[in-house]
Amino acid sequence: LGETPLLPVQEARQRLLSHFHPKDSVLVPLDQCAGRVLAQPVVSALDLPPFPNSSMDGFAVRSADIASAQPDSPSTLKVVGDAPAGNVVDLVLQPGQAVRIMTGAPLVQGADAVLPVEDTDFNYRQPGVPAPEQVLALRPVSAGDNIRPAGQDVRRGETVLQPGKRLRPQDLGMLAMMGMAQVPVYARPRVAIFSTGDELVPVDQPLAPGKIHDANTYTLVALVESVGAEAVPLGIARDREDEVQAVLDRAVEQGVDLILSSAGVSVGAFDFVRMVVEEHGHLEFWKLDMRPGKPLTFGQYRDVPFVGLPGNPVAAYVGFQVFVHPALSKLGGTGGVERTERRVVLQEPIESDGRESYLRAVVKEQDGRLLASLTGHQGSGNLRSLVQANAFLFVPSGVKSLRAGAEATAWLFGDLA
Ligand code: AMP
Ligand code: MG
Repeated sequence: LGETPLLPVQEARQRLLSHFHPKDSVLVPLDQCAGRVLAQPVVSALDLPPFPNSSMDGFAVRSADIASAQPDSPSTLKVVGDAPAGNVVDLVLQPGQAVRIMTGAPLVQGADAVLPVEDTDFNYRQPGVPAPEQVLALRPVSAGDNIRPAGQDVRRGETVLQPGKRLRPQDLGMLAMMGMAQVPVYARPRVAIFSTGDELVPVDQPLAPGKIHDANTYTLVALVESVGAEAVPLGIARDREDEVQAVLDRAVEQGVDLILSSAGVSVGAFDFVRMVVEEHGHLEFWKLDMRPGKPLTFGQYRDVPFVGLPGNPVAAYVGFQVFVHPALSKLGGTGGVERTERRVVLQEPIESDGRESYLRAVVKEQDGRLLASLTGHQGSGNLRSLVQANAFLFVPSGVKSLRAGAEATAWLFGDLA
């Protein structure tokens, strides 16, 4: 009573996402395109394969010449040429003739089929063996047999890849086949990351009394990179107005698309981040209907979008996944984030305080059902619960308890246990 109502997660996410738009498209050399996001449809300028070619090692023939060939009454053909891959044989096959041909070699003019070596008396494929002067066909072939026509895989003018797609290894091969040395992809979002707190020391420095190692920098840098964005880590700002402002200004100088901080956004006496952002920009501070991660700060610092995540490591992680990941997806051109959600059966009763909750759980498969158990202490500072988890157990807003055996939704982020 008297408190501001908690903002629903879905509404907060929509408000945040309305501030992000896909970055410009840039041309990137194909060998640097793995994992990049295609920015335009790719229309093939070529037929693939570009020319009719053999799908077997054998002999290019006129099928009519060997229509009656059988092992006990073979047809004899005169071998008038040799067609390795990569060369065009400059002749027109006449009746009674054959050309030795390799897989991938252009079909010889006048031929309408390829007779595999296995169906001849010349079943030799060792390197360096010269073509014979004549060959016995032991079986017939039909017109078109063992020929890959031009355009069988892709026809010129066809759209092969759609924009918004993260390029996989096989997509790069396809782009190479189409001769695309430069590929239009979305520019990668750049994200400045810093931690705040007098208690934080970098991982490579010893802990003095009262200090802890900065964990969030490492988690957040890895999260940013895992979604295809570029992380610009800026270290730790102490709980002083000038230090917080200095690190924010460094972020702006770096020309980033988003500034991401953790901690210092509560209402504590040493939480300067909100104050500094508000002085030099615009701030929306939300109390979210969410657990963990109730306080989330969003705004602009000198016109650069800013997200202030909670300091507790589990809350920072959840805040990233629920808010920052979708924002980076939108910036990076992939649009939405596909969560792997499954219905699971609870192995234990669950209590919640009625906020939309993301509990750390292990999901395993047993007898065709997915079973979920919590991973230890669920405090938002207990990172071990997240280390042991392969899923978030999702408890909707308004639900305060679920009994053992009840069904719930899990958001899987690792392999099943
Ligand atoms: P704060 O939001 O500053 O009140 O921080 C909340 C809690 O998160 C405190 O226990 C902090 O010590 C902890 N914390 C803040 N930043 C980090 C960090 N980068 N790594 C690990 N713990 C942190
Ligand atoms: Mg603090």
